[in-house]
Amino acid sequence: MSMTFSGQVALVTGAAAGIGRATALAFAAEGLKVAVADFDAAGGEATVEQIRAGGGEATFIRCDVTKEAEVKALMERVIAAYGRLDYAFNNAGIEIEKGKLTEGSEAEFDAIMGVNVKGVWLCMKHQIPLLLAQGGGAIVNTASVAGLGAAPKMSIYAASKHAVIGLTKSAAIEYAKKKIRVNAVCPAVIDTDMFRRAYQADPKKAEFAAAMHPVGRVGKVEEIAAAVLYLCCDGASFTTGQALAVDGGSTAI
Ligand code: NAD
Repeated sequence: MSMTFSGQVALVTGAAAGIGRATALAFAAEGLKVAVADFDAAGGEATVEQIRAGGGEATFIRCDVTKEAEVKALMERVIAAYGRLDYAFNNAGIEIEKGKLTEGSEAEFDAIMGVNVKGVWLCMKHQIPLLLAQGGGAIVNTASVAGLGAAPKMSIYAASKHAVIGLTKSAAIEYAKKKIRVNAVCPAVIDTDMFRRAYQADPKKAEFAAAMHPVGRVGKVEEIAAAVLYLCCDGASFTTGQALAVDGGSTAI
């Protein structure tokens, strides 16, 4: 079965790089119009250029997902640009911790929770009324395998991603009868700037990261994009409230 999309417009946050950029490109390749949101304007514009170079349609909208006024304005600009919103991929996230739980700072806690949890909540808060008004849609939030189990030396990050799954499941049930599906994607280690910052400086860490996955390698951004598109497509019409691990088998061990 090929993926079909009844909707026409997708919004991706954190789309200036990594998983978000790859997913924005994948939506565009399926013929959807894409709102590319990020607080990194240069990276966001570069994503739009790549989409347009491939013959697709996209608009960059600058937004810091931790600020409610900016998130509200983002949704207004999506509607101004494209008249509707069918799919939202709430993906902007950060990982800045490097130590054990007792070594974390209050500033780190607030920063990680601000982007990863409050950002996802604010996005859904301002997307759901648009989807309700149109009679449905699909939302995918980026959690992590760190949202499904322990993540030593990344406890704040793990807590933030468990919270994303809690938000996802609760929203899925609240809006299940309104034709709004809400799922989360849970990547293991994926080759992005975030991964390179955390692992690649030290070759031993990079080797360890590959070995954590039964398939023997870290994941590719396109492999997460494919899962997100599946969760949005018409074929996933009976799938809601799920936290889908895309992890090279790592959570199956
Ligand atoms: P990345 O750092 O390459 O991209 C993250 C993007 O989010 C960047 O473009 C950044 O500018 C944007 N962003 C950060 N804070 C923002 C804010 N306040 N407002 C708007 N945009 C903001 O990272 P990535 O690896 O592509 O990560 C994407 C998502 O995937 C994150 O939620 C991350 O936690 C999750 N994730 C990544 C991995 C991995 O191994 N790379 C694994 C599991 C989950």
